[in-house]
Order: sequence, then C-alpha cells, then structure tokens
Amino acid sequence: MANVPASYEQSRTRFRAHLDDLTGSWPNTFLTCLPLESDPALSTDIITANPVIKERLIVITTGEHGIEGYLGSAVLELFFEEYVRRLDPQTTGLLLIHAINPWGMKSWERQNPSNVDLNRNFIDGDFESLKTTNPDYPALAPYFTPSEPLNDTAGAKWRFIVNTIKNMVTFGSRRIREAALMGQYHSPRGIYFGGMELQPETVTMMDTYRKGFSGYREIIHLDMHTGYGPRDQMTMVTSPYEKRPAAELTARFDAPRIATANPDEFYTMQGDMIDWEYRLVEREFPGINFFAATCEFGTYGDLILQAARSLRTTIVKNQLNQFGGSPEAAEWVKGEFRELYLPSDPAWLVKALADVRCVFNAIT
Ligand SMILES: [Zn+2]
Repeated sequence: MANVPASYEQSRTRFRAHLDDLTGSWPNTFLTCLPLESDPALSTDIITANPVIKERLIVITTGEHGIEGYLGSAVLELFFEEYVRRLDPQTTGLLLIHAINPWGMKSWERQNPSNVDLNRNFIDGDFESLKTTNPDYPALAPYFTPSEPLNDTAGAKWRFIVNTIKNMVTFGSRRIREAALMGQYHSPRGIYFGGMELQPETVTMMDTYRKGFSGYREIIHLDMHTGYGPRDQMTMVTSPYEKRPAAELTARFDAPRIATANPDEFYTMQGDMIDWEYRLVEREFPGINFFAATCEFGTYGDLILQAARSLRTTIVKNQLNQFGGSPEAAEWVKGEFRELYLPSDPAWLVKALADVRCVFNAIT
C-alpha cells in the first residue's frame, strides 16, 4: 500500500523487496546499497532496471531532505504498484532511489549529519567563492540563528514576531525569503547551510547520475520533496536551465502547477541537484532529451502568515539542534516540524498521491 512508512528501516525493507517485482520484466535489474561512510548501517538504495534498448530512462529520487523521504517512500510504492507494469521493458529503463540522505530520513531531519542542506551542495568547483553569495544572510544571521538554548517557547514566538517586523522594515519580505532559502556557505550552524565541501551523499549521487544516464536518448527525472508551495497542492518546480515554456511542460506532464526556481515563482537556489544534472548532461551527454524537476508537495501553505510560520519552524528547529533546549520546547518544535514536512492529516497524503498520479499517468 502506498502509505507513509513508520521508520526509515521499514521503508528501505519494502523498497528492496520490490526488486523481485521487476526482474520478470527487466531481466537486467539490480539493487545497489551504498552505505553512508559515517554510519554504514544506513544506506542509499538504488534499483536499476536496464531495458533491452536504452531509449528512455525514468528516474525517481526521494529523501534528499531526509524527513521528506517519508512521502517520497509512499510515492515510490505508488509507482511500483500502479505504474511499473505500464512501461515497456524493451525500451524504458528505471533508476529508482531510496533515501539520498539516509541519516536525515532515519533521524526525521532535513539536513545531513553535518547540518548541510544537500540541495545546496551540488556545486561545481570552488566553495570558497560562494562565501560572498547570499549577501543579506550575515546581517540576518542573528534572526535566523539565535545563539542560545530554546527554553521558553512563548518568548521565542514573541521574539520571532518582533524580529520579523523589524527585519521586514529593513529588508522586506522578499529579501528575507531569498536570504533564508538561497543557501549560505559561511555559517555551519546556520539554516540552509550549503557546506564547505562536497558531502559524501552528494558525491554518491553525482556518480550515480553519471553512470546511470549513460547511453539513453531521453531521461525524465522527478525528485520528491515536501514543505513548499500552496497547501494540498503539488508544484512541479523546474530548473532555470530548462528552456521549454511552462505551457509546453504543463501539457506534457499534466502537472497541476508549474513554477521555475526563481524569486518570482519560487525562490533562488545555489547548489541545487537538478541544476547540477542539467550541467552534467550539457557537458557529458549532449543531445539527450533531458527533463528533471522537483515535485514539491505543499504543507503549511504559501500565504504570508503560513510562510512566516514555516520560517519560524526552520529557525527554532535549527536553534534546538544547535544549542539544545527544554523538553517542552523540543516537543513543540517536533510537532511543528512534522507538520511542515509530513502533515498528519490523512487527506493530505491522499491529495499528494492524486497529484503525483497525474504526472505518472503522463509519463508511463
Ligand atoms: Zn526538500
């Protein structure tokens, strides 16, 4: 059943078990388990199904942001149960990836064990030069990262309101949002930290794509995420590297809502995984018909107060992770954080799966 698993281990076990579903149709199918260096009990698991003739490859990835992998796991189940049999094993291959960030999924966290947001870490070249990107972050750092334990939740809520108003006057909501979400490369204890070097999980994925893409004529990659965009609505977020017009993509993928990762439609990102893939294809696989996008399933919503709540949750969660806090505060933050990345309302999951079905129907 395409439900949300109770744990990382349960999710991984059921994912691995699907290998047997595929071997009948795709004789050349295998499971690759890539253990995490820092904790080999955890792994990124990959099912590769090679077709007879490599024409088209479907890639589905989950759990780049750990906790978001729970919804990702339900989406993979849906794909195995309802869509795999519609594909032509003669010409269509599969690259299905469970938990890009296994520690984050296991720990119900978004970042990796080094506090790095992996979707800000796909950088070609020098991290040093990134220190000057996100120019507003340093001035906003005291607001984003209060350097003290989180003990008094009422006080924290009040301080957030006061500081938000103060910073809105100076920076405006758009600059605050961009500074928070763009990624930053100088405060390892801050929010949306992109790292000082490539993370092991990032290197694993770069190798996986480089090997997996080889030989195909067409590739479609959908990367599952939760947390942003309107409530109860999937947004297909396309890369600034994707040059086909939104109307064409809407028709092709039957996506209920499409946005490009720019400040007007979504937000700007440094070190985005999908942007990196477009650059990889341009460099190493020119001529492939390549499409990759993030499927973002909205949770809190994107109206101004909902977006403010989302930022507050990000700030207090990071504060708790970095500086500790009282058990009461931890309990409150845990509830807020879960609702931000995996809402408890069963209707949310039903709608999320209905939205992703539209896209799966269009590509299978
Ligand atoms: Zn995400």
